[in-house]
Amino acid sequence: MRKKVIISCLLVLLLGFFARTGMAAQKGLKVFISVDMEGISGVIHWDECTSGRRDYPLFRKLMTQEANAAIEGALAAGATEILVRDSHGSMRNILPDLLHPEAVLLRDWSGGPLIMMEGIDETFDAVIFLGYHARAGTPNAVLEHTMANPFYDVFLNGKKMGEAGINGTIAGHFGVPVVLIAGDLAVTNQVRKLFGDIETVVVKEGIGQAGKMLHPKKTQEMIKKKTEKALKRLKDFKPYKLNPPIKLEITFTDERSANRASWIPGAKRTGDRSISFTSNDFMDVVKFLSLPIHQGH
Ligand SMILES: [Zn+2]
Repeated sequence: MRKKVIISCLLVLLLGFFARTGMAAQKGLKVFISVDMEGISGVIHWDECTSGRRDYPLFRKLMTQEANAAIEGALAAGATEILVRDSHGSMRNILPDLLHPEAVLLRDWSGGPLIMMEGIDETFDAVIFLGYHARAGTPNAVLEHTMANPFYDVFLNGKKMGEAGINGTIAGHFGVPVVLIAGDLAVTNQVRKLFGDIETVVVKEGIGQAGKMLHPKKTQEMIKKKTEKALKRLKDFKPYKLNPPIKLEITFTDERSANRASWIPGAKRTGDRSISFTSNDFMDVVKFLSLPIHQGH
């Protein structure tokens, strides 16, 4: 009789232990989702992602649905906190009433230097990029560019970076890895070269200025599944960190912008259209990049 009691007590304890450790792996997962618009399924033209233009309402709805797909995948993987950063243009594209109710939406410009990564901090477990696009100057890419300034090339410690690269490095600065990117084939290829074997969802493929598109329903299903998969193998991903000193090099599309930027404290003119800036603190570089260089026109 006593033996039976001891055995059942041990069983209860063991079950309790497995239940707790199982839950601990799932509970408290905090996910940051930055949603740009150029790389959303179906988007091919600036008219479709510029507020006030005729085609914009449809594509902002698709952008919201793509965010929902990632939110559903994150919830399925055990996320309990999800912050969605609207990361395009006005930063007021995602439709709040159509966004999944379990997520919190961060809208508009904050005035701070983190821009598309506003809201990120050390408490997050994973970063997801949706609707992203390739850096300026990439062939066969949909709406490729680098930030709102006239940047042609941006290098961080010698590595060519677009927005995904810069934002992924910001995430890494806070100790958070990028686990998934969705966008066109060009951006997913670029990001894999930088961040390694992260999950990718290719929603379209650029052919010159045109693009071959998968149906949004299909890409949303892929985003949901791959988000869940990525978060379930979170231990495979490492935050992307740069070793100080951190050297930022920018080549502008025009001489005038390089001249303007060269007057920012710490900047060095390195060529007709280029400058550099070096600091031991990556946040100094982030602040430098966010300065309103494109002014006086
Ligand atoms: Zn954008």
